[in-house]
Amino acid sequence: VRSVETLVIGGGPAGAAAAIELARAGREVLLVERHAGPFEKVCGCFLSPPAIGDLAALGVDVWALGAARIDRVGVLNGRNPVAAALPFTAASLSRRALDEALLRIATAVGAGLRRGRAVAALAGQPGDWRVRLSDDTAIDARDVFLATGKHELRGWARAAPRDGPIGLKCRWRLAPAEAASLAGRVELAAFPGGYAGLELLEDGTANLCLTIRPERFAALGRDWGGLLAWLRAQVPALGHRLAGAVPVEDRPLAIAAIPYGHVARSGDGLWRLGDQAAVIPSLVGEGMAIALRSGRLAAACHLAGTGEATYRRQIGRAVAMPMRLALLTGWIAASPAGGMLLRTAIGRLPGLTAAVARGSRLCLDQ
Ligand SMILES: Cc1cc2nc3c(=O)[nH]c(=O)nc-3n(C[C@H](O)[C@H](O)[C@H](O)COP(=O)(O)OP(=O)(O)OC[C@H]3O[C@@H](n4cnc5c(N)ncnc54)[C@H](O)[C@@H]3O)c2cc1C
Repeated sequence: VRSVETLVIGGGPAGAAAAIELARAGREVLLVERHAGPFEKVCGCFLSPPAIGDLAALGVDVWALGAARIDRVGVLNGRNPVAAALPFTAASLSRRALDEALLRIATAVGAGLRRGRAVAALAGQPGDWRVRLSDDTAIDARDVFLATGKHELRGWARAAPRDGPIGLKCRWRLAPAEAASLAGRVELAAFPGGYAGLELLEDGTANLCLTIRPERFAALGRDWGGLLAWLRAQVPALGHRLAGAVPVEDRPLAIAAIPYGHVARSGDGLWRLGDQAAVIPSLVGEGMAIALRSGRLAAACHLAGTGEATYRRQIGRAVAMPMRLALLTGWIAASPAGGMLLRTAIGRLPGLTAAVARGSRLCLDQ
């Protein structure tokens, strides 16, 4: 049985950020990631300024990785798309590229990494944990950082509602004229029961990511083709963007029951990071910023010896305001009049758009 000081379960932005900070401080840390190599995730791939800043602090220069610049937000509802300037420059980078870059740095600064094996079981208490991996190896750890994202570890599920929306994501090669007019923008499309985001990635493909209420998806036969046809009818400008486009994947990636609004409030001995700590509605594109910040904050509290409860309070405070705004805007977007309201806000009220875009960010000096 191997023993480690800190075990990090999950190699997304939250787990990698924590592992980097702990390893840099000379602590013994082992990260377990169930995927053996690079892979895509259900994500809009919009990196906000707080995320870009935390990535830079961790050693990842998103621009050097080829990230696309985004400085406008558009709405595809209505007859003609409208757009407004964002009050900052954001980045668009595939999760495959981003998550790999973080894991590379984690190993370069001395974190141990086991890939291609999942944590199958976890038992114990702070100071005395035992995990079993999917290949039956056992590892003892003093502290466990749980960073499994949207996935629950058996017996350690978040205390969150199970009736949340479904997330779907698919990449496309757009027709050249459509790709050219999407450049520099994140475009939103609202529809009853959900919303979608479209933006170009570093390789020029377009990332289409959406959330939809499960009952709406069920009414469409739980069929991707049926959903796309319905979306094209609901938002014709999205149909134009996708006219002549070729999907990169045969089938979309999917995730069910996203617990938007969840914030971990009570302790169970684990340090919960990223989506295990808080799940912000995707519309505002701040989930990765929260994941990175939570990983860094948890590592800082661990190093300072201030404990998990202090960390949990700090991350709870940092997400409170962005969460409120994101829940409200997400709810408006998915309402029956959501498309019209988003269009009015972004087309006619640039001051309000900028205020919401700024207000839904994590505080940079937190
Ligand atoms: C529809 C949708 C759109 C989104 N769009 C955006 C956006 O545009 N911008 C943004 O900032 N955020 C966005 N988000 C949010 C963002 O994707 C997440 O907040 C972020 O990925 C959370 O990071 P994480 O490290 O907590 O989890 P993840 O990135 O999910 O990483 C968790 C890791 O744990 C691994 N794992 C899971 N279980 C185990 C196990 N048992 N053993 C070992 N490894 C395990 C997984 O393989 C994975 O690599 C979106 C989310 C959704 C659902």
